[in-house]
Amino acid sequence: MHQDPECLFCKIVNKEIPSEVVFEDDKVVAFKDIDPQAPVHIVIVPKEHFNNIIEAQDNNDYLNGLLNAAVKVAKDQNLDDGFRLVINTGKEGGQTVEHLHLHLLGGRNMQWPPG
Ligand code: 5GP
Ligand code: ZN
Repeated sequence: MHQDPECLFCKIVNKEIPSEVVFEDDKVVAFKDIDPQAPVHIVIVPKEHFNNIIEAQDNNDYLNGLLNAAVKVAKDQNLDDGFRLVINTGKEGGQTVEHLHLHLLGGRNMQWPPG
């Protein structure tokens, strides 16, 4: 499995940096965001390193793993009234950590359009 030893989220996957893990399987890890933007803010990452979703194109095991984990965690967190999934990509997309990740946000009303 490809990882980047310098990458923050690879270190979280490997438990070299602590995080509050809420779900884990063979493909993904889901953990609480350190700077939550909503009452529930979980970051879901593939265990393999991809810089962004463009690099992960066609890696359907990991892409499915991210989406299925998000739905499972949303149910576990009782987000029955709804939630938002976000993948920031690249500079204009607002991506700050270059390891593909899916944000799960919930517990309040979301605005549209986003900022
Ligand atoms: P991005 O801005 O790249 O879409 O999202 C990166 C997210 O990772 C941000 O929401 C940020 O708060 C979160 N984050 C950055 N560093 C850490 C960390 O060390 N631990 C955790 N749990 N979250 C982090
Ligand atoms: Zn990584």
